[in-house]
Amino acid sequence: MCGIVAYIGKKEAYPIILKGLKRLEYRGYDSAGIALINKDELNVFKKAGKVSNLEEFMLDQDHAGNSGIGHTRWATHGLPTDTNAHPHVSMDGSIALIHNGIIENYDALKQELVRQGYLFKSETDTEVLVHLVDFISKKENVWFGEALRLSLLNVVGAYAIVAISKNFPNQMVAARKSSPLVVGIGATGDFYLASDATPIVEYTKQVVYLEDEEIAVIKLGEELKIYNISDQEKTPYIQQLELELEALEKGGYEHFMLKEINEQPRSIQDCFRGRLNAKEGWVSLGGIKDYEQKMIQANRLILVACGTSWHAALVGEYLIEDLARINVEVEYASEFRYRNPILTENDVVIAISQSGETADTMAALELAKSKGATILGICNVVGSSISRITHAGSYTHAGPEIGVASTKAFTAQVTVLILMALSLGHKKGTVSESEFRILLAELEEIPNKVKKVLESNALIEQIAREYKDASNALYLGRGSSFPVALEGALKLKEISYIHAEGYPAAEMKHGPIALIDENMPIFVVATKGKSYEKVVSNIQEVKARKGKIIAVVTEGDEQVRAMADHVIEIPETNEFLVPLLATIPFQLLSYHIAVMRGCNVDQPRNLAKSVTVE
Ligand code: GLU
Repeated sequence: MCGIVAYIGKKEAYPIILKGLKRLEYRGYDSAGIALINKDELNVFKKAGKVSNLEEFMLDQDHAGNSGIGHTRWATHGLPTDTNAHPHVSMDGSIALIHNGIIENYDALKQELVRQGYLFKSETDTEVLVHLVDFISKKENVWFGEALRLSLLNVVGAYAIVAISKNFPNQMVAARKSSPLVVGIGATGDFYLASDATPIVEYTKQVVYLEDEEIAVIKLGEELKIYNISDQEKTPYIQQLELELEALEKGGYEHFMLKEINEQPRSIQDCFRGRLNAKEGWVSLGGIKDYEQKMIQANRLILVACGTSWHAALVGEYLIEDLARINVEVEYASEFRYRNPILTENDVVIAISQSGETADTMAALELAKSKGATILGICNVVGSSISRITHAGSYTHAGPEIGVASTKAFTAQVTVLILMALSLGHKKGTVSESEFRILLAELEEIPNKVKKVLESNALIEQIAREYKDASNALYLGRGSSFPVALEGALKLKEISYIHAEGYPAAEMKHGPIALIDENMPIFVVATKGKSYEKVVSNIQEVKARKGKIIAVVTEGDEQVRAMADHVIEIPETNEFLVPLLATIPFQLLSYHIAVMRGCNVDQPRNLAKSVTVE
C-alpha cells in the first residue's frame, strides 16, 4: 500500500514522477503529492483524491526540477486530506520525505518533538520522521542522509522512505524495512526509485531491491551506495528486470480487471509452461523440487495467506489432501501469527501472496522460520520480499496484476497448487499413474476451456443487468467449489459494494437460508461431480423459498437448467480442475455489475493492492 516514486538525474523529474504515480496508483488512491527540487528551491504539491486531481492542479504550477519524490497514499493515520498527503516537509522547508508503512511509536516521538518546539501540520504518523530527521541533523550537525539513518535507530514500525533536501540538491536518500523499495540505475547516471519496478521498467532494467534496514545513498555523478543501519557499506546486488512495458498497459480494454480476466487462458498456460508434459507424463515445480521429500514427510503443510490468496489456499487444501494424502491446514496469516501456533521442524509453511509483500503473510513466515519450520512461497511478483525470505518457492508467472480485485493471480495460484498436489501425489504414489496422466492431459486443455468460458461474456452481462440492484447475494459451492463461492462473494463485495456471502452449500440451512426471498440472487456452482445431487437438493431448497438461482453448470446439464433462473455453462473437466473454470463467470459477473453501478472497478473504495500494513 502507498506508492512511492522518485527520480534524480538530468531529465525533467515531474513527468517521470507523474507517470510513475499513475502506474502505482493501484497501491493507494486517497491522495497524491510531489516535491521537486529546482535549483535551490523545494516546491511541494499535494492533493486529496486520485493522481488525476494532482495532475489537473499541476497544469498551472511551475514544475521544473531534475530531482523529486512522489507519493500516492493509502491512509493509515489521518483522513485523506491535502494536508495529510505526502510529501511531508520540515519546518524550515528544506527537507521533504515520503513514506510507505506505519511508524508504530510515532506518538512518543511526536510528544518529544513537540517538547523541542516542533509544530505538526498533519495527523499522520509519517510527519514525525521529517521533523526527527531535521532535529537530529541540527543537533548532531550532520547532513540529512546521516540524520535519516540515525533517526531510524529510534523508529519502530515498517517503512519505505525517500527523502530529499534543497540544501543537497544532487542527493537523495532512501531506506526500507518491511515495505518494498527498488532502485533503478539509469544508463546516463540517473536514478529511479519506486515501490515496485512498474514505474522504472520504461527507463532501465538494472535494478537493486533494497533489503530490510538498508539505506541507499544517491549522489549524482557517483555510483549507488548501500549501507546497513549501522553504517556499514554493502555491495549493491544489481538485477536485470524481466518485466515488459506492454504488460502494464490496458491494451485496448476499458479496465485492467477486464483485461486481466481475459488474459487467463494465457496466464494459466504461462503458469504451467515448462512445468508439465502430459505426453511424457511428468510434472515438475523446479523451485520447490528439493523440498518435495520434506513436504511428503511433513507433519503438516500449513498454507498461510490473506484475502483472495486465502481462497486459493483452501482450494489447495482440498487438492493436496485428496491427491497427495498430506495433512494440510489453511490459516489467515493475520490470525496465525498472533496465535502462538505450535510449530516444529517437521512443519512446512507455504505462504501465498500475489504481491509477495503482504505484511501479515511475511510476519507469519518469519514466525514459522524462527520456530524451525521450512518456509516456502507462492508469489506472483518476481523478486518480492516473500520470494526472498523463503527457503524456496514457485512463481505463478501470471504477469503484473494491476486491477485491485485479484483475478488472474487467483487462477495462477490455484494452478501452482494443482501442480504441487500432482507432483507430491505422484512422488508419494497416492495418485495412480493413469489418474496422473488423465489429470495432466486435462490440465493442458484448461487454457482452451477458459477461452470457452470467456465466450459466455454476453450472457453473463445480461444476467448482471438483472441483478445489479440487489442489496445482498449468496454464493454456494461444495468441495473445492466452496472456495470458489467465497471468492465469488468477495469479488462482488469489493468492487460493486453489494453485500455478499460465500457458504458451503449444505451450511445454508444453518443460517443464511433465513435471508432468502424473491429478491435474493443465489449463485451456485452446480457442476457434475461427487456432490452434484446434493447441490441439486440445495437448489430445490432455495427455489422452495422463491430465491433466484444463477447456476454455473457443466455443459449440457439439463437437470439444473430446469430449476434455475439462469445457467452459465462451463466445459466438462476433471472435478479437481473445476475451480479454474467455475471462478471465471463470477469474476465477469462482478465486473459487469460494478460497471453498471458506476463503481470504479480497478480502484474500489477503501482498498489497495499489495497490503504492506498489518
Ligand atoms: N502511515 C502513512 C499515512 O497514513 C503511510 C500509509 C501507507 O503506507 O499505507 O500517511
